Amino acid sequence: MTTTKKLLPRVALPPDARPDTLAVREGLPASAWGENSEAIFLTSCFVHPDAATAARRFANEEEAFVYSRFSNPNVTIMERRLAALEGTEACIGTSSGMGAILLLMLALLKSGDHVLCSRSVFGATIKLLQGDFARFGVESTFVAQTELAEWKAAMRPNTRLLFVETPTNPLTEVCDIQALADLAHDAGALLVVDNCLCSPALQQPVKFGADIVMHSGTKFLDGQGRVNAGALCASEALVAGQFVPLMRSAGINLSPFNAWVVAKGMETLSVRVRAQSERALELARWLESHPAVARVLHPGLASHPQHELAMRQQNGQGGAVLSFIVKGGRQEAFSVIDAMQVCSIAANFGDVRSIITHPASTTHGRLTEEQRQAAGIGQGMIRLGVGLEDVEDLKADLARGLDRLVP
Ligand SMILES: *Cc1c(COP(=O)(O)O)cnc(C)c1O
Repeated sequence: MTTTKKLLPRVALPPDARPDTLAVREGLPASAWGENSEAIFLTSCFVHPDAATAARRFANEEEAFVYSRFSNPNVTIMERRLAALEGTEACIGTSSGMGAILLLMLALLKSGDHVLCSRSVFGATIKLLQGDFARFGVESTFVAQTELAEWKAAMRPNTRLLFVETPTNPLTEVCDIQALADLAHDAGALLVVDNCLCSPALQQPVKFGADIVMHSGTKFLDGQGRVNAGALCASEALVAGQFVPLMRSAGINLSPFNAWVVAKGMETLSVRVRAQSERALELARWLESHPAVARVLHPGLASHPQHELAMRQQNGQGGAVLSFIVKGGRQEAFSVIDAMQVCSIAANFGDVRSIITHPASTTHGRLTEEQRQAAGIGQGMIRLGVGLEDVEDLKADLARGLDRLVP
């Protein structure tokens, strides 16, 4: 690893500035024009004062902007802001959340390595491991998210990574990050936590021992459903030593414009996520009492199997994503979804617009029925990514379809 001379300036902030301040202020100092809101740097390359400086910068001996596949001011602003919120030394932006997972696996795994992964992670993550990385000789085992004994039993001498998402989507299963971090570290492996559902506004996985935090910026970080983006937050050694060099050849970099959108989104992250999480809990309680609903999954509910753990890990908040199971199956679920007048029928969450999804036929549609059953995603399940609309309008939207199912 080359040691890069750190030359990029820092924003002048008090050393004890708190997360809400960092979310708004961390990044890069303003340019020569003194703009208050970050400018957008749509430039593919950067100019050097002389050939020798260009050579040093290309050799990564001194930090500077060179080419936007390697780095760009907007991407750096987003990375510094997210690292500050996650409490990690460093961060690297990627083209999407899946781009972040791809970069992670390409950088840290080789043929013959083993990955231990929760069975309930994002469908595309399972596909990537089980399909694509298996072709390159990386083995993976999928275990029950909440069964620590299964994780322990599945550890192998060649296990390099433990991968988990907490809470999971759409089941909202919560795992004990500290327990999995201890298990990983005892075996010389790393724990990766996909923190999409909580965002750092509610949960900072490194506080509980996680080594790498993965994000889809597409979700709460942007927060208004505009762009695809992703990131890996980790130590300087991992980011500068492993991820950045690979990014230079892999090219799954975050576009400057998308980085700008996500960086601006992070300024309102904590107020949005808290408000959305409160609405989600109110809706979850209301759904629990509805006769057409068999079960509601939200970590903020006392009935949630890992409620106490979730409250400890997630700053006392359940998050803005809930799922519920209607009595019946696909037909009943579709009729509830089709009665919506406010919520968007789409496959996303983390947006200020509430989004309703039928996971079995969309986000988890590429899995086989057997895999879906194993993951616990039935045809009657509906996911709601709760936004910022008036909660009474959201209740009315759900009631329109649900009331019709009551005999
Ligand atoms: C959306 C999502 C991803 C993938 O992110 P993209 O930006 O869509 O590539 C990964 N994990 C979770 C939990 C997600 O919700």
